[in-house]
Amino acid sequence: MISYQFPEHGKPLQKVMHETPKPKGTEVLVRITHSGVCHSDLHIWDGYFDWGRGKRFYVKERGCLPPFTLGHEPFGMVEAMGSAVPRIARKLKVGQKKLVFPWIGCGKCALCKSGQDNYCVSGSRFLGVNRPGAYASHVLIPHPKYLVDSSGIDDAFAATLACSGLTTYSASAKLPELGPKDWVAVIGCGGLGLVCVSVLRAKGVKNIIACDIDPGKLEAAKKLGAKLTLDTRAPDAAQKLAALAMGNLAGAIDLVGMPATAALGLGTLRKGGRYVLCGLFGGELVHPLPPFAQRAIGIVGSYVGNLQELKEVVALAKKKKLKPTPVTTCPASEVTTALENLKAGKVLGRVVLAF
Ligand SMILES: [Zn+2]
Ligand SMILES: [Zn+2]
Repeated sequence: MISYQFPEHGKPLQKVMHETPKPKGTEVLVRITHSGVCHSDLHIWDGYFDWGRGKRFYVKERGCLPPFTLGHEPFGMVEAMGSAVPRIARKLKVGQKKLVFPWIGCGKCALCKSGQDNYCVSGSRFLGVNRPGAYASHVLIPHPKYLVDSSGIDDAFAATLACSGLTTYSASAKLPELGPKDWVAVIGCGGLGLVCVSVLRAKGVKNIIACDIDPGKLEAAKKLGAKLTLDTRAPDAAQKLAALAMGNLAGAIDLVGMPATAALGLGTLRKGGRYVLCGLFGGELVHPLPPFAQRAIGIVGSYVGNLQELKEVVALAKKKKLKPTPVTTCPASEVTTALENLKAGKVLGRVVLAF
């Protein structure tokens, strides 16, 4: 098998050949055909997350050591299965196309047992985060339950549902109950933000304000159904956002996650509103405490999503309720360029590697 690995943090990815693993027991070997390139891959490639004021969280502390294979939006074809698989997944056949749920937990802790692998507390096995990911011709999955049928959806777009679709779907579930006059701000219209607009529309939310610094991305958000847009380069962006929402900003989903975007979301929410943080750009939050209580504001972090939520977002796409977001495919051998373009903010929507 082939994988594209970074030999050291920040260094160009290299094509490496290894022996293709043979699935045992409940394992399934998937031949990857499409693999999405996500912004969080950039942080893992760099080797750390910025915690603000010079502090860093190093990814080696959660088991990601180079040489490492990124990739947590895997889509492919079942190539082989362990001897126990036919008994537990009778309909699964070699050659079937499947979307892979990459947020695999230990399978044993209480959270995994309740179906919340993404909150696993004792040894997560997240593909491309602390286990070899899908910038590779093959991935080994521990159990067939992590394979999701996405027939009827374009393969490259389906791949992006494993992170960008799932993350925004799970984030949208953390918004407060929305009344007819309430508004939701989507902060950051990169790969996740555009899917977020699409997900909110699919769930019946109409009053969406897309916020970004790039007019091209705002235009794309409008096409996907954002009612209003805000160029956040304006020095009075917070006042403008409050005016657009007519004082009724019930939710802000922050797909960037930097001090400026947190200030924009938190500062503009109406009483009882909720700020949902997904973006991992970095920095720290410094905010007076009393207003959280006085304005009854909620802050909630949202990290990817669970298997059931992935099935739900895939179902929305199958029913054509989820408008496909811009996806560009490129040969897997161009992965380093794809990452560099993403870092430079040159990507509209998602780049998906094709194998
Ligand atoms: Zn991601
Ligand atoms: Zn677990």
